[in-house]
Amino acid sequence: MKFIDEAHIEIIAGNGGNGTISFRREKCIPFGGPDGGDGGNGGSIWAIADPNINTLIDYRYSKKHQAQHGENGRGAQCYGKFGYDLILKMPVGTLIINEDTQEIIADLVEANQKVELAKGGKGGWGNMRFKSSTNRAPKTASKGTEGELKNLYLELKVLADIGLLGMPNAGKSTLIRSISNAKPKVADYPFTTLVPNLGVVRVAYGKSFVVADIPGLIEGAADGAGLGHQFLRHLQRTHLLLHVVDTVPFNENIHPIEEAKAIINELKKYDEELYNKPRWLLLNKVDMLEDEACQEIIHQFSELYDKDRIYTISALTGEGCQNLCLDIYEYLEAQKRKNDEFNLADDPRFNIKDEASMFKDDPRFMPVNNDE
Ligand code: GDP
Ligand code: MG
Repeated sequence: MKFIDEAHIEIIAGNGGNGTISFRREKCIPFGGPDGGDGGNGGSIWAIADPNINTLIDYRYSKKHQAQHGENGRGAQCYGKFGYDLILKMPVGTLIINEDTQEIIADLVEANQKVELAKGGKGGWGNMRFKSSTNRAPKTASKGTEGELKNLYLELKVLADIGLLGMPNAGKSTLIRSISNAKPKVADYPFTTLVPNLGVVRVAYGKSFVVADIPGLIEGAADGAGLGHQFLRHLQRTHLLLHVVDTVPFNENIHPIEEAKAIINELKKYDEELYNKPRWLLLNKVDMLEDEACQEIIHQFSELYDKDRIYTISALTGEGCQNLCLDIYEYLEAQKRKNDEFNLADDPRFNIKDEASMFKDDPRFMPVNNDE
C-alpha cells in the first residue's frame, strides 16, 4: 500500500548578465577601441535524487527556489561572473511534473540521478564582440536572456515507516496530528469508509519519516471480520510498530496492561512476522497522571516491554513527543545503514577473496624491470 506525498514549488533560474558598452581609455593610446565584456550566464536549477531523503516535506516549507543571476559585463574586457547553479535534493522516486504544461520533466528512479529542471539565461555580448572592419567603435551590447521560470508539481509514493497500534481512543490520531504537519494523500485506497490516518514527521531539514495509523486494525481483526487483516497487511512493510496505550482509560475496570496484552495477542494470532517486528510502547496521556502513578505504570509495563523502549508521552500537550521522534529517526537510519552493509556483503564487487590474483594480469601492476 502506497501513499502519495506531494508538493508544489516554483523554480526560477538565474538571468544572464547584460553585455557592456565600454571603450579603452588610456593615456597615449588613441582609439583604444571597444572593450566591454560579456555578461555571465545565469545559474540553472537541477534536481538530484538523494537516497538519504525520505519525503517531500522540506518542499512544503520552502516553495520558491531561485538560482543566482549572472553579473553584467564590465569594461577592460572583463566578463561578468556566472551565477551558481542551484541543486535541489529530492527523494529517490520523485516524479517531477511541469504544472503549466502537465508534462513530465523527470522521474528520479535512481540514486544520484541528476536532471536539469530550468536553464539559466545566457549572458549578453559586450560591445567588443560587435567590432568589425566597417564598425570599429560599436556602441551596441546585447542584454542577457531571462532564466526559465517553472511551476512544478512533485509527487512521491511513500510507504509508512512507522505503524501505530492500539485500542480505539488510545490517542493515535491525536499523536499523528501532534507530531506531523503534512498529510500525504491516500492513493487508490480500497476501503473508502476507513481511511488510514497518515502524517509526515519532520525531525530536521532533510530528516523525515512517514507514520500511519491504520483504523480498524484490532477491532476488525478481533472478530475475524477480515477488514482488520487487510489493514494489518499494510503494516508489514513498516520498520517499527508503536503500541499506544491509554494510561487513563475511561472504563476504570479494565487495566491498561490487560488491554495491551490483548492487542499483542491479537497481533501474534494474526501474523508472527508482524508480531516479531520491533515494537515500542507509548504510554499516552501522562498529562493526566501524577509522577508517582506514572512510575508505577512504567514498572508494571516493564514485564511486557524493554524499559529502554517505553516512552511516556502526552499526544495532547506534546510532552515527550520530540524526544520520541528523534529516537525513531535515529533508529530508522541505523536500520538503513545495517541493510546497506548487509547488501554490500552480498555484492561480489565488495567480496574480493583473493585480491592478489585479481591484479595479476593487469599491466599496470606488472613488476617493472629497471635494469634495461
Ligand atoms: P484514537 O482512537 O486512538 O485515534 O484516539 P484519539 O486520538 O481520537 O483520542 C481519543 C481521545 O483521547 C480524544 O478525546 C483525545 O483528545 C484524547 N487524548 C488523546 N491523547 C491525549 C493526551 O495525551 N492527553 C489527554 N488528556 N487526552 C488525550
Ligand atoms: Mg483515531
